[in-house]
Amino acid sequence: MRCSKCKGRASIELRRHHAAYCKPDYLEFFDQQVERAIHKQRMFQPNDRILVGVSGGKDSLSLWDYLLRMGYDATALHIHLGIGEYSNHSHTTTVKFAQERGAPLITVDLAEQYGMGVPELSQAIRRVPCSGCGLSKRYILNKEAYDREFTVVAMGHNLDDEAATLMGNVLHWEMGALARQSPALPANREKLIRRVKPLYTVTEREVAANAILRGIEYVQEECPNSVGARSIMYKNALDQIEAQSPGTKHAFFSIFLDRIRPVMEGAQEDFELRDCDICGQATTGSVCAFCRMWQQAHRKAGENSQRAQGTRTVQGPVPDALPTEDRPV
Ligand code: SF4
Ligand code: ZN
Repeated sequence: MRCSKCKGRASIELRRHHAAYCKPDYLEFFDQQVERAIHKQRMFQPNDRILVGVSGGKDSLSLWDYLLRMGYDATALHIHLGIGEYSNHSHTTTVKFAQERGAPLITVDLAEQYGMGVPELSQAIRRVPCSGCGLSKRYILNKEAYDREFTVVAMGHNLDDEAATLMGNVLHWEMGALARQSPALPANREKLIRRVKPLYTVTEREVAANAILRGIEYVQEECPNSVGARSIMYKNALDQIEAQSPGTKHAFFSIFLDRIRPVMEGAQEDFELRDCDICGQATTGSVCAFCRMWQQAHRKAGENSQRAQGTRTVQGPVPDALPTEDRPV
């Protein structure tokens, strides 16, 4: 197999592009795809201060690596989720990446800052781990960006992630979620920071190839809580279709963005945003979803520990300062 550009020996074939590339030409192609996505969606400018959500996986590290190589002002935010060895490994991998490049990294430890990690949170609120975890990640990224005066939040979601989310939203006709699904959500209110996904046009396989060919050391194991997740089921279904008909994932998501989403966005009802009574972040109700969830978690945890001690609970403890965001996502 020959490289479509230099005719040398190809390292990777991209059937959906009817192309194959050698290592240097593939890396150049990857950068061009990301650059094009940033410009098409007007994600940010060279003078923006970017906070990148970095988990330690191939996507977020590839994104951070790209932004640093291109000279953007890109700081990473890593959230230690407290999910056993998976979280410890994710944290050390992210720290190592930052140290090797002298790149700025902020770490938020969920258990230290909010009182419990994802497993305890999930147990306390009796919901699947991904529910509290996802809400916490979105909230903390926005809150830290706002508090530290970043102008953009960037996340490493790739085309497979976006196509799987779209499939889930379509299968359940989640009209609100469909209207808001976008690789570039504007800062439509002072405390809601612009949120962008520069890797939305490249597939998971293409990002993995970028990470491997660039020698980026990333966490390969998946979070143990992702086993059986619906998003994985949708990804598998899309992979099967893609194998028979290369380019389907991209067409599915890009046609939605170009033709369907604008119509849905226009039809969406306006909702008023106000400051959360507890944390001051933007919300549609009086208390944002993040604060409500943590209040409930601490109340339940308090009740459980008092029950274990054989006493009756009156009111559970609530952390003093609960920061927050409740951007509808
Ligand atoms: Fe969090 Fe679920 Fe992702 Fe694990 S799989 S990191 S619990 S959202
Ligand atoms: Zn709040």
